Amino acid sequence: MQSIDQFLPSLKTPFKAVITMHQKPDGDAMGSALGLYHFLRSLGHEVTVISPTNWANFLDWMPGSSEVIDFEQRRHHALDIIQKAEVLFCLDFNVLHRTKHMEQPLTEAKCIKILIDHHQQPQEEAFTYGISDTSKSSTCEMVYDFILSSGYADHLNVAMAECLYTGLMTDTGSFRFPATTASVHRMAAHLKETGMNHTKVHESIYDSFLENRLRFIGHALLNRMEVLYEYNTSLMYITRADLQKFDIKTGDTEGLVNYLLTIQGIKLGAIVIDRDEERKWSFRSKGDFDVNTFARKHFEGGGHKNAAGGRSSESLEITVKQFKEIIKAYHNQLQ
Ligand code: 5GP
Ligand code: MN
Repeated sequence: MQSIDQFLPSLKTPFKAVITMHQKPDGDAMGSALGLYHFLRSLGHEVTVISPTNWANFLDWMPGSSEVIDFEQRRHHALDIIQKAEVLFCLDFNVLHRTKHMEQPLTEAKCIKILIDHHQQPQEEAFTYGISDTSKSSTCEMVYDFILSSGYADHLNVAMAECLYTGLMTDTGSFRFPATTASVHRMAAHLKETGMNHTKVHESIYDSFLENRLRFIGHALLNRMEVLYEYNTSLMYITRADLQKFDIKTGDTEGLVNYLLTIQGIKLGAIVIDRDEERKWSFRSKGDFDVNTFARKHFEGGGHKNAAGGRSSESLEITVKQFKEIIKAYHNQLQ
């Protein structure tokens, strides 16, 4: 993988581009993809954003979101566009299998492939150019840096700002996590100067749920949470029946894991959700406990030091039991 700076001169000549991100895109994945989409279009390129799967309703307000293709819904159309693409941008993930059913077509694609991402251990050989920086708060911050270094920073407008602010805000936990550097705040200030309304972004993301989601959180906190004080760990499990009873949709469970870390002294929060095809884990930690390594080692996953995800093919009951066994070996690290 060569430095992304080497690609910058190619921005002068129009090309056909596809932008994609990890499956079930979150605020940072969708925000960075759409921010880059608006920027590349402002330069005259032909751009399509393809998401590997569907996404949460609370991302639908974003400018350009109605143009995003859901690969699972429009597979043939998406494959045709991927085949014709000259440049492929991969945002907010760094191993192709995180695009689920798109892994094969993306692997086989012969075009220029560009990575912009902040997760650990990138699959470098899969990309022509790229930038991978785990010190960055978000992929949105990296797309912003890309725009600034492109020589076309004057193209930055409100639509790009709203998209990029979204990921900056969601991946920093609204500007509270350690990755919230002075540069993050400078970027937020610059985005504000475009005329962007940041209150609109916060409300669109965090205050746009239905009643059922709040009732579901109440149920989960009351009946599905266990606090393992000996290990400073809080655990939550969501059954398939819970998802059905509260009519839980993509995105409704996002943020739930953060409640676990609000208990005094808790250093590790873990939640597992019984999805159709797998048991999906989310891990969050405070301080030195490295959930990226933990998720990689025990749950076929990865992510960042303080926020990672993983999966299991076992039943909900068994994977929870396994977690409780595994955690015993981390007793000292969790003190
Ligand atoms: P979340 O718990 O919000 O789904 O994910 C937390 C972080 O870990 C995100 O940065 C996400 O991209 C990453 N992540 C989640 N699941 C996986 C996984 O299965 N594999 C890898 N490599 N990263 C994941
Ligand atoms: Mn991210």
